[in-house]
Amino acid sequence: MSADPARVLLLTDPAMERHAAAGHPERHERLAAVAKGIEAGAAAGGAELSVRAPQPADDEAITAVHDQEYLEALDQLDASGGGWIDPDTYLAPGSMHAARLAAGAAIDAALAVARGEVAVAFSVSRPPGHHASARRAAGFCLLNNVAMAALALRRAGHAQRIAILDWDVHHGDGTQAIFDDDPDLLYASTHQRPLYPGTGSPEERGQGTAAGTMHNLTLAIGADDDAFVAAWQDLLERVRAFDPEAILVSAGYDGHRDDPLANLAITEHGYRTVSAGITALTREFGLHGAALVLEGGYDLGALERSAAATVEGLLTGPSAAAPASSSPG
Ligand SMILES: [Zn+2]
Repeated sequence: MSADPARVLLLTDPAMERHAAAGHPERHERLAAVAKGIEAGAAAGGAELSVRAPQPADDEAITAVHDQEYLEALDQLDASGGGWIDPDTYLAPGSMHAARLAAGAAIDAALAVARGEVAVAFSVSRPPGHHASARRAAGFCLLNNVAMAALALRRAGHAQRIAILDWDVHHGDGTQAIFDDDPDLLYASTHQRPLYPGTGSPEERGQGTAAGTMHNLTLAIGADDDAFVAAWQDLLERVRAFDPEAILVSAGYDGHRDDPLANLAITEHGYRTVSAGITALTREFGLHGAALVLEGGYDLGALERSAAATVEGLLTGPSAAAPASSSPG
């Protein structure tokens, strides 16, 4: 696109390791695996990589999405030694600092792309976010990181019409609930069904004036790269019709065939191809790039390879997947 090498930003902080429960699949080693993948993907795409620690999100950014009482209840549980919120979801001492850093990393990633500082920004963070809704933690998630990032983009005046693309193997029920009546927020998701949390049927399309902004495509057990890429070709056409001013990705890698928590057969090649398609869109709409927020993904090797393929696909664009295309700019 320009003579300068593209820039990739990785946002992470070791304090996120303090969110921990023995034997839980959502463990801190995931972050190092994803970071290693991003480094490889940036190198393969000829980009300059910078790494920085995020600022914790402030209460204004958090309460733009979550109820004040809910936030206070989480802080109190953290201060009193933590505990289990449901059979999947816990809070340990230090978890809320990690959650505020994860939120801050998502916001920083979105703003860095919107300001044109980088073409790809990746929030390598935990706990993940897309199952958290305004007043409920669930599915390993405490605060909805990608939702806070979207609203931060609006608050800063960078974008009103925002698309959130969610390829985690689970439906992002929290994200959908937060934006279900928001006509300027497109949410597009592929997910295995049936699977936790059980929502995300194609009939769920948004409420009121937002009808038609929620786009759920389900994948059957065993769905492979062909099915995944075909679903996203469909979804990216809908994103194009929406005319987005910013694109955020809820990047979970538990749809990978090596993942222990789900039953799809996606490989890193699928993530690369879909990522290249996202860059085709950002180029078409004159956006600086895309910001990604880590969601799930529980096999360390799959996380590393998939993150590498994602970043490489975003940097290279559709020329890698479709050699005949002539990308403008
Ligand atoms: Zn997931």
